Amino acid sequence: MRLPLIERYRAHLPVSPGTPVVSLLEGSTPLIPLKGPEEARRKGVRLYAKFEGLNPTGSFKDRGMTLAVSKAVEAGARAVAAASTGNTAASAAAYAARAGIRAVVVLPAGYVALGKVAQSLVHGARIVQIEGSFDQALSLTKALTEAYPVALVNSLNPYRLEGQKTLAFEVVDELGDAPHYHALPVGNAGNITAHWMGYKEYFALGKARRLPRMLGFQAAGAAPLVLGRPVEKPETLATAIRIGNPASWEGAVRAKEESGGLIGAVTDGEILAAYCYLAEEEGVFCEPASAAALAGVWRLLKEGRLEPESQVVLTLTGHGLKDPATAEKAAGLLPPVPAVLEAVAEAAGLL
Ligand SMILES: *Cc1c(COP(=O)(O)O)cnc(C)c1O
Repeated sequence: MRLPLIERYRAHLPVSPGTPVVSLLEGSTPLIPLKGPEEARRKGVRLYAKFEGLNPTGSFKDRGMTLAVSKAVEAGARAVAAASTGNTAASAAAYAARAGIRAVVVLPAGYVALGKVAQSLVHGARIVQIEGSFDQALSLTKALTEAYPVALVNSLNPYRLEGQKTLAFEVVDELGDAPHYHALPVGNAGNITAHWMGYKEYFALGKARRLPRMLGFQAAGAAPLVLGRPVEKPETLATAIRIGNPASWEGAVRAKEESGGLIGAVTDGEILAAYCYLAEEEGVFCEPASAAALAGVWRLLKEGRLEPESQVVLTLTGHGLKDPATAEKAAGLLPPVPAVLEAVAEAAGLL
């Protein structure tokens, strides 16, 4: 039976018997062995996709949100607030609905994928769109939660990272040890910080014999951690990682340095190629930001920079259904044909 994430890993989380568990049965997502790509097969490198799109609201944000909302309710909060590129909003809205409290989400207008806005709407969140970037939305939300009785559930809330670290636990529990490499997209950098926390905790407890090298990937137009300075106007079609000044900057740098890993940048073209490959060749539909993890690993494979015979886990952070517009643009849709057999056969490519 599937357990609430807080129950599955209770011994490793900052909860007490008195904490009200607000759960939608998040976590315990599949670790899917990939067939390729060809460059990996040739070197005996085994890739696994931790498909976080199969969480209750379709992204890894649910792992942190179950804990953040449970702790907020424990502390007596009647409302939560978050700035978001979309998935944090969808998750906060759903968990607040579950808890019977209010959610306020602050979004950069025009830069949130349609599915995420729809989720926030149906779950009854109060949506505030600002004429500005995610980074501005975050500082406004922080100010809002300091001035009004509303709990902040962005990844600045330490309970978010505590919940998200369980992804590393699940990988080790399933593989029997940590992989050699763990790759993921990096936006606000909370998740890479949380992954590394989780791996270190399991290692210290003797549950893993090694630590992975952490491979973080940003979009080339929004790569402050690669450039070493904030980016004023971040741009990428991967809107979930369209962030110019990551809140967990230091955590990301520490994860990279302590693990002997790297933080690199991938172009939108590389992201789309990886997105299409995963959908067309592997049958896994993730959102564009998630594909940045494979785009980066693919580049390292081509450059011969990954150890042969190693294991690589990719966190596929969100579901492809979140962003139907990108799917339609990437794959193209044929115009309608007359409703007659020959026309249908021709359009089907069978003639
Ligand atoms: C939030 C998010 C990210 C970025 O995670 P950070 O913790 O902000 O680095 C990547 N992909 C998706 C789909 C997300 O929702």
